Amino acid sequence: MYKISHIKRTESEPQILKDKGKGWTDNFIFKRKENPQYKHSWVKDKVNYHDELILALSLMTAEHCSYCDKYPLDGRAKSDNQIDHFQPISNPSFYHLVYEWNNLYLSCAGCNKSKLAQYSDLILRPDVEDYIASEYFFFDTSTGEILVNETNGIEKSERAKETIKVFKLNHPSIINFRLRAIRNYLRDKKNTETTLNINDYDYRNFLEELL
Ligand SMILES: [Zn+2]
Repeated sequence: MYKISHIKRTESEPQILKDKGKGWTDNFIFKRKENPQYKHSWVKDKVNYHDELILALSLMTAEHCSYCDKYPLDGRAKSDNQIDHFQPISNPSFYHLVYEWNNLYLSCAGCNKSKLAQYSDLILRPDVEDYIASEYFFFDTSTGEILVNETNGIEKSERAKETIKVFKLNHPSIINFRLRAIRNYLRDKKNTETTLNINDYDYRNFLEELL
């Protein structure tokens, strides 16, 4: 019953952030103060660090979206594997987190677009140590919906509610994706003698209900 999070923050921050993060951040803050429209970029001195960062973030999630668990992500046009700033850098209070490793998450286009600049302390961080998803949510495998677990107190249920709302985790399209993942998983389970690797599938918390 108790499903832990599948997202684990890797301890090793990419070397490029360790080496350059502070300088890049100072520059970003300076430029944003001059021009609030100034856009952050992963391209520095003609080198694009986007893919390197995506690779490092993917290790945390086995290449799944950190928020909805979509997999695989299509990175051809950088449209579907995006780097989300959990505390959004459109907010001046978070400018200093623009290159902060702990503020970066691999996100699908749907989650990143749904969240945009929304932020509150209620939104659940999927990589917090000891985070147990099932303390906050129920994963309904018959409908594909993610439901609020109301049995662990008001604080946990409020956080679950806000997280579902911000990422639109019950949008009809995501519900269809989950139902398809459940069907695929059950079909594969029936047709194979070998143990399936759950990381080869998306919406892993739902599939774990079926194990
Ligand atoms: Zn997602």
